[in-house]
Amino acid sequence: MLQVEQLSHSFRNGQGTVPVLQDINLTIGEGKMVALLGSSGSGKSTLLNLMAGLMKPDQGKILIAGQDIVRFSENRLAEFRRSHIGFIFQSYELLSNLTIRENVELPLVFMGISPSKRKAKALKLLEQVGLVEKASLFPSQLSGGQQQRVSIARSLITEPSVIFADEPTGKLDTETEEEIIAILQQLNRDMNTTFVIVTHEAEVAEQMQVVLTLQHGILVEEAVREV
Ligand code: ADP
Ligand code: MG
Repeated sequence: MLQVEQLSHSFRNGQGTVPVLQDINLTIGEGKMVALLGSSGSGKSTLLNLMAGLMKPDQGKILIAGQDIVRFSENRLAEFRRSHIGFIFQSYELLSNLTIRENVELPLVFMGISPSKRKAKALKLLEQVGLVEKASLFPSQLSGGQQQRVSIARSLITEPSVIFADEPTGKLDTETEEEIIAILQQLNRDMNTTFVIVTHEAEVAEQMQVVLTLQHGILVEEAVREV
């Protein structure tokens, strides 16, 4: 379960303080597929980054598995993020000098997991995203959609309770976008991982169980449906 309470955040620029998120309250149940929808500049990435512990809010609580990550020390937060949170970037963020398998394994290297265990787990996830035969290639040898599938596998390797994705299909054509969304849906069903997916496309949001709509930093709608 992911809960946000009275969350507010501002950015400071040359002229002063600009409010970006105002009094956000939301609850996301375990295993849900959630879209965070809104036009450009509405605060989607800021809210996602705050919930993923990538930055600290001015005010409010962010509860993941019952713990308020806002109150964590830097070290505690880093450790919590490693074991509970996954992140998928719009531009994949794969390391070009590592193979596909090594990229997927990387989060486990930092957790001190043995090489044989890491390898087995990475290959299993690569199979789930349909790329096991590409395991020994390098990122530059894959298409954009394939690279995003690798980054999805990487985000799952630590078995996080929640995965945040910031416009994961933003750089892909419509057909590839549909493929990626279908893979995320399948993984959500198979692994019961919660996904929070930022999008500015209503067609993507419509496929999710919960749609949170942001407008100018305010949560204006929380729609829940059975998909
Ligand atoms: P979205 O992801 O919905 O496009 P963002 O969360 O990136 O929106 O940005 C929301 C608002 O906050 C925008 O007006 C943006 O210019 C501003 N903003 C985002 N990041 C920063 C920053 N680091 N410093 C100053 N302003 C920022
Ligand atoms: Mg954004």
